[in-house]
Amino acid sequence: MTDEKRDLVIAGSGIAGLSAAVYAARADLDPLVLEGEQPGGQLTLTTDVENYLGFPDGVGGMELVQRGKEQAEQFGAAFRHGRIDDAALDGQPLELSLSTGDTIHARSLIVATGASARWVGAQNEGELMGHGLSTCATCDGAFHRGDDLLVIGGGDSAMEEALFLAKFADSVTIVHRREELRASEIMADRARDHDKIQFRWNTELEAVQGSQAEGVTDAVLVSHPDGYPREKAESGTAVERETVDVGGVFYAVGHTPNTQFLDGTGVERDESGYVFTQTDDAGRPTARTSVDGVFAAGDVADPRYRQAVTSAGTGSMAALDAEEFLETLRDASGSTVRATVSPDQSAP
Ligand code: NDP
Repeated sequence: MTDEKRDLVIAGSGIAGLSAAVYAARADLDPLVLEGEQPGGQLTLTTDVENYLGFPDGVGGMELVQRGKEQAEQFGAAFRHGRIDDAALDGQPLELSLSTGDTIHARSLIVATGASARWVGAQNEGELMGHGLSTCATCDGAFHRGDDLLVIGGGDSAMEEALFLAKFADSVTIVHRREELRASEIMADRARDHDKIQFRWNTELEAVQGSQAEGVTDAVLVSHPDGYPREKAESGTAVERETVDVGGVFYAVGHTPNTQFLDGTGVERDESGYVFTQTDDAGRPTARTSVDGVFAAGDVADPRYRQAVTSAGTGSMAALDAEEFLETLRDASGSTVRATVSPDQSAP
């Protein structure tokens, strides 16, 4: 175990964290990026990205984050595996306890830990995610021209994804586990009124079938007139089971922001856990949170847009705000920390 001192720690190595790292390293802030559980973030689950500016022929999700990491490293950013398990943010320096057992005392922190798309637990979803099974219609929809698609979920995201996918697909079926939508009326009406979109009520996805080479080919659906058919099937109640030919399946069952480590820290979040960022005195957006020295970027603070390009934008904002904050601290104390590591005497 070590006790390390840093000017800036960036938690998360998706697009937001990488963009923050490039800006911070170029500003000579010597950032340390904690790569988290899923280095590279959600883009690593996407095959090709066609809507990221500057790549007219598209770019692989994995390639984009690898190039981002390389770019940040070239400017001097350091990367390390591990996530923050616990944080004490009520004064300087901020104390970050890592999953590795190490402690870092940091003057500033950029939270770029993202939000994880929820999965439904269907058979084969691990193998086929990114190969015809997707959690992002905007990212992957254009690969499904002329396909019959399923969208799983009954909220606004499911309606929005279905409407987007209907631009490319022959048909889109929204599969919802009960017969009442959670979506707002306006979004639900748009989906209901679309001639390519239909609904399967009281139905759930039990399995996706296909292969990484050929993508998704079939889906096994279970239905029960009283809803929640998988729960019923698991408890032994008879359910209807049907295999349907599909060219792709999209999950839209919500996201969970990765902010559990902020519990009790004073960083304000909404009821779902998304971090609130603050406006400046003139009411313009910043990446500052309610805690001094803590900034947020990317999906962790954005339940609305959730795009790679917006994450890159807010990542750069967070680094610029952190730079300004560190300058103010330096002006006040006349000192700088940079990276120092010392063995923790209390370590076993
Ligand atoms: P929601 O939590 O609103 O909806 C999730 C949906 O997925 C629900 O219908 C839920 O079913 C279903 N679901 C959850 N878990 C499972 C599961 N394991 N198997 C099958 N179905 C499941 O999430 P959204 O992402 O849709 O929306 C999040 C927030 O973002 C909302 O506030 C929404 O209004 C907002 N939003 C707004 C948009 C806009 O205004 N343009 C666009 C997109 C989102 P059940 O209903 O039975 O619980």
